[in-house]
Amino acid sequence: MSISETLPRAVARGSAKQEPKSVRRPTRQEAEEAVRTLLSWAGDDPSREGLLGTPDRVVRSYEEFYSGYGEDPVALLQRTFEETDGYDEIVMLKDIRFESHCEHHIAPIIGKVHIAYLPSHRVVGISKLARLVEVYAKRLQIQEKMTAQIANTLNEVLQPKGVAVVIEAAHQCMTTRGVHKPGVSMVTSRMLGAFRDDPTSRREVLSMLGTPGGGTSEHV
Ligand SMILES: [Zn+2]
Repeated sequence: MSISETLPRAVARGSAKQEPKSVRRPTRQEAEEAVRTLLSWAGDDPSREGLLGTPDRVVRSYEEFYSGYGEDPVALLQRTFEETDGYDEIVMLKDIRFESHCEHHIAPIIGKVHIAYLPSHRVVGISKLARLVEVYAKRLQIQEKMTAQIANTLNEVLQPKGVAVVIEAAHQCMTTRGVHKPGVSMVTSRMLGAFRDDPTSRREVLSMLGTPGGGTSEHV
């Protein structure tokens, strides 16, 4: 394996430190062959007409599902700092829908992210918050890790007085297989700075988030 055959799968900066380093990226042909193997494993015939184009479609879907590996979340936020003109109240973006895949079953995780921060001296455009969610969602994930990654990256780059990230999501590895429990959503949260340490700020952000008392959240 030569250097040219390796791709950086994640940028090793800031909160991305724990991400995988470099792996040899298989060729598209190898990836399609792997899909054919799984189709055979499922018990079907990959050479029948209806499945002929499937490996190509699956590989193209993977390019979309996992596009977050090629993006740097820190650079994304750094590009758009703005002066706040003295604004020092909570900024919150609610109900950011995301689609991700669990790293244990490669099954969809679909849910919503709520992000709040208390600016110190700068704010970031709200579309960048949604893009930040996308970068982490378009990777193989567990919900706890994704919650922490979003909060930690915002905290590192924006250096606000406080950060709160809450994620509610349904895991299809739980609804369509295994224990088969539809209608269950998992809630995770990460609170940093004033939202963790100052009871007044914490109460304020929790009431804005609509999670009174925060009792439904699992802190990670
Ligand atoms: Zn799973």
